[in-house]
Parts: sequence; C-alpha cells; structure tokens
Amino acid sequence: MPVYEYKCKKCGEFFERIETVSEHDPAKARCPECKSKRVERRWSPVFAVTSKKS
Ligand SMILES: [Zn+2]
Repeated sequence: MPVYEYKCKKCGEFFERIETVSEHDPAKARCPECKSKRVERRWSPVFAVTSKKS
C-alpha cells in the first residue's frame, strides 16, 4: 500500500499515513501531535518497502 507522508503546518510534525488509493483523502489527514488538519502532503506516494536496515 502506498505511504503518504505529511507535514503539519501548525506544529511542523511529520507523519505518515498508509492509505489505499480509494481511501486517500488529504482532508482526513490529521496531525497526530496537535490534531490539526492543516497538513500538507510532502511526497508523492511511495510503496512501503523494507527500508529499515538492521
Ligand atoms: Zn501538528
């Protein structure tokens, strides 16, 4: 599933949301820190891969 990365315009928090294409709706995205809806998408969708290297 694509991961959408957002930045909160209010507090500057970065967060990610995993959304299906059909679910994707920036209006529903909320900052987990301050609950602000004033967020902007940073990147175009990328597919979740195992980017963590141990
Ligand atoms: Zn925030």
